[in-house]
Amino acid sequence: MTEPVSDAHAHADASYPIGPVNRVKRLHQRAAYDHATVHAILDAAALAHVAYVVDGQPYCTPTLFWREGTRLYWHGSSASRMLRQQAEGVPVCLTVTHLDSFVLARCGFNHSVDYRSVMAFGRARRVDDADEKQQALVMMVDRLFPHRSAGLRPSTALELKATAVVTMEIEQASAKVRDKGLADEEADHALPIYAERIPVHTVLGTPEPCPRLQAGVRRPLELGPYRSGRRLDEALSEAHAMAYRQK
Ligand SMILES: Cc1cc2nc3c(=O)[nH]c(=O)nc-3n(C[C@H](O)[C@H](O)[C@H](O)COP(=O)(O)OP(=O)(O)OC[C@H]3O[C@@H](n4cnc5c(N)ncnc54)[C@H](O)[C@@H]3O)c2cc1C
Repeated sequence: MTEPVSDAHAHADASYPIGPVNRVKRLHQRAAYDHATVHAILDAAALAHVAYVVDGQPYCTPTLFWREGTRLYWHGSSASRMLRQQAEGVPVCLTVTHLDSFVLARCGFNHSVDYRSVMAFGRARRVDDADEKQQALVMMVDRLFPHRSAGLRPSTALELKATAVVTMEIEQASAKVRDKGLADEEADHALPIYAERIPVHTVLGTPEPCPRLQAGVRRPLELGPYRSGRRLDEALSEAHAMAYRQK
């Protein structure tokens, strides 16, 4: 099995440079640029939206992605328009969003949501080097399900040819976090109006083993993070840490 690349070069106290593109202006007190905050939000997600412009037309494509240090990866069919367009270093903005709660205030203006989000900017390039592509595809699986690739049937040449991988070094990034719940005006607390915060989580369902499993094939222990009833963001964070454990 190919060893996962260590996450060590993403220093805990490092930050992304702040410039005109990624400086949070609106409600800037909710902003963060440090690797720790940005990466934690990214690693708690499997899904991102990748935005790019082709001939003046904006596109925003949802896709699975994963992080390796300060680099992001996503993949798809070699025939995908998104991946063909992104092969040659086009500027992209990749976003991740976690909706953490609905906030029901005592007036419409103060209704809100708690959230964690990241916008990451860079230039996408197709991974053409065979070894880098192979390693990336291993981590596409192992980032979600640590060590799973080692036990799988190897990909065929045709499967590899049909798959394109795109990577982007994060040049700039911003995180924005709201976690304060209700924030009514002080005077509004005297009003006879119901208010509450409704936490929102995506939760894992009960795994459904394939009915055609060979006798004696059991669920691997490495799937431990994926337990019925568990929060998806927590499972994904745990799986990412297992996959990219420091060497
Ligand atoms: C789940 C969710 C729901 C939201 N709902 C609303 C809503 O209903 N109305 C509303 O006005 N806003 C909402 N926001 C906030 C919204 O994402 C923007 O932050 C806000 O609209 C200001 O946009 P702007 O382009 O004017 O920000 P600016 O501060 O001008 O943006 C400048 C830079 O700040 C950074 N930035 C801005 N927003 C974010 C972000 N969310 N995450 C990471 N980096 C960011 C980017 O790098 C951006 O280029 C929501 C956010 C989330 C995550």
